[in-house]
Amino acid sequence: MAVNTDQYLSITAGLKKKNVALVAVSKIKPVEDILEMYQLGQRDFGENYVQELADKQTRLPDDIRWHFIGHLQGNKVKYIAPFVHLIQGVDSFKLLTEINKQAQKNNRVIDCLLQVHVAEEDTKFGFDERELLELVQSEQLTALKHIRITGLMGMASFSDDENKVRGEFRKLKQLFDTVAASPVGGPAFTILSMGMSGDYEMAIEEGSTLVRIGSLLFGARVR
Ligand SMILES: *Cc1c(COP(=O)(O)O)cnc(C)c1O
Repeated sequence: MAVNTDQYLSITAGLKKKNVALVAVSKIKPVEDILEMYQLGQRDFGENYVQELADKQTRLPDDIRWHFIGHLQGNKVKYIAPFVHLIQGVDSFKLLTEINKQAQKNNRVIDCLLQVHVAEEDTKFGFDERELLELVQSEQLTALKHIRITGLMGMASFSDDENKVRGEFRKLKQLFDTVAASPVGGPAFTILSMGMSGDYEMAIEEGSTLVRIGSLLFGARVR
């Protein structure tokens, strides 16, 4: 139940050289573990459950940047809208409009990544390629002034087939470049969030700018 300090230091040293950001995925882990990693210098943490995130936010230092990385339900946006740093994994236009509404209520602009579905499993959320390309051209999207799309997020298949996983990361990078050249692109569109404990090195080789790592840093999750 503790942070793997050596692993943390070696991973962050490697990421720094490559200019890749780390979100430490702390879901299910106690606040003590988060604080321990905070004391090592980590400021970006990722959570998947709204209730858990809202609770941890009140108990931990104010300068933590909280990333919501899971599937977000529209009716729960209000609980994280006051403080969330980046909502990774927005998977519908409806959700974007709700985030926009809650951001406006809180007098702020909320940064979001669009989640793209490239993996084989149909359980993974996200826009498919056609939906994504339609969305980023739409004037309805540019009309939402309280959200800012700062990149894309995706997950590869859970598979031992390296070629397949690599191909999915490559596809995400290609879509990232396409969206960067669309009306949604611009100087703020810089984040390609891909790569987790098992595949982050490959994700970086394929162009990731932000990795989301949990179990390698905090140990396996048991629930
Ligand atoms: C849990 C989770 C991670 C981290 O997974 P690990 O394999 O523990 O590194 C990354 N991204 C998302 C979206 C997750 O839900």
